[in-house]
Amino acid sequence: MEQKKTEELLKERLREKGLKVTRQRILVLSVLEQNAGRHMTAEDVYDLVSEDYPEIGLATVYRTLQLLWDMQLVDRISLDDGCVRYEIGHLFKGDAKHNHHHLICRICNKVIPFGGDLLDELEQQIEDETGFHVLDHELKFYGVCRECLKKGR
Ligand SMILES: [Zn+2]
Ligand SMILES: [Zn+2]
Ligand SMILES: [Zn+2]
Repeated sequence: MEQKKTEELLKERLREKGLKVTRQRILVLSVLEQNAGRHMTAEDVYDLVSEDYPEIGLATVYRTLQLLWDMQLVDRISLDDGCVRYEIGHLFKGDAKHNHHHLICRICNKVIPFGGDLLDELEQQIEDETGFHVLDHELKFYGVCRECLKKGR
């Protein structure tokens, strides 16, 4: 059901841009949707897409992710290691803003989503003090995840 909605939105956006609806575009987006909550590298996406579509190349996956990002259908974060991670776009959840913040483990590089957001007040304060209207914000917290802590570093 959800799947259908995503696919429809993708088709709509592609047509608006005069771009073709292709199987690889649909597959890349649906892999991200099926793995919502995960933050995947292009290689992770490639591994899963190629199970259904072995002919696809990694370069195509890169280009497709870039295109989907341009169309605001996927979100991405870049880590200090230069590795970009992708996830299904927050627009699909009907939210104008991002839907979570990111906790990044310094040891294993895992990215953990965190839903709480206490920044409305700060945004209001920024607006009051500077007249700057905040549309969105992005936060990354760096630390050590529970599993790495248990392993005793
Ligand atoms: Zn860790
Ligand atoms: Zn995320
Ligand atoms: Zn936030």
